[in-house]
Amino acid sequence: MAAFTRLLKPSSSTSSLLFKRSLSATSSSAVASDIPNFSDPKPSRNFQWVFLGCPGVGKGTYASRLSNLLGVPHIATGDLVREELASSGALSRQLAEIVNQGKLVSDEIIFNLLSKRLEAGESKGESGFILDGFPRTLRQAEILDEVTEIDLVVNLKLREDVLVEKCLGRRICSQCGKGFNVASINAKPENGRPGMSMAPLLPPQHCASKLITRADDTELVVKERLRVYYEMSQPVEGFYKSQGKLMEFDLPGGIPESWPKLLEALNLDETEVKQSAVA
Ligand code: AMP
Repeated sequence: MAAFTRLLKPSSSTSSLLFKRSLSATSSSAVASDIPNFSDPKPSRNFQWVFLGCPGVGKGTYASRLSNLLGVPHIATGDLVREELASSGALSRQLAEIVNQGKLVSDEIIFNLLSKRLEAGESKGESGFILDGFPRTLRQAEILDEVTEIDLVVNLKLREDVLVEKCLGRRICSQCGKGFNVASINAKPENGRPGMSMAPLLPPQHCASKLITRADDTELVVKERLRVYYEMSQPVEGFYKSQGKLMEFDLPGGIPESWPKLLEALNLDETEVKQSAVA
């Protein structure tokens, strides 16, 4: 825990101007509600953002796009867990049993993996982060809160039937690690909810023969992961809501519809951010 405390300290900012811009204005987006009032941001360091949302909602996709855009690392604790699983240590066997049942790994193991990742990043000069899949319990959120200040929490939302379909269609290239989705989603309007279409995100030819499915992306395990999310992780949304840091974002569809809307909700202009990065 000491390592975690030491590592999560604020660092100096390279994107403070953008940070101020992105957080100081309120959103005009119709899909983002409860956007916090960021009238008095204190950008003394780089972005420290958190992405929340159910399994399969697209946290990894959007966090990774924003990480490329803003030049801060995207740190997904699920990836850290999978890296550990791929090793042959004793911890790996212990983790496989938990992860493949859709349960959460202990907070201690997660803090340990995250500390190591932050330490490695710090030694390479990284600052700021977009956390994905962490915090996932109230205790994780409280400890994170004790050690550093989170600026913004984006809560991605999608209908549950679409979440399940998306998880079942998820594929990873075993060679390059890129993620794809073979599901072609056409959810009908239901109970006042609008219909939704999402085109598959197909791999290029050189990845097509190397696709693998995550062991925890079976229907049974996905449903258990959703149950665990509602029980253990949903309270984290309330934790950040009470701090005025939660931005709810209902995904309107696939990446082509959702990405521009998300940027708009965050008050980020892709072209401006890219220009300022090269300036
Ligand atoms: P994800 O890729 O985020 O769905 O994570 C895959 C699995 O890793 C989860 O189902 C958990 O077993 C484990 N995991 C990832 N992040 C956490 C966390 N913050 N706390 C506990 N377990 C986690």
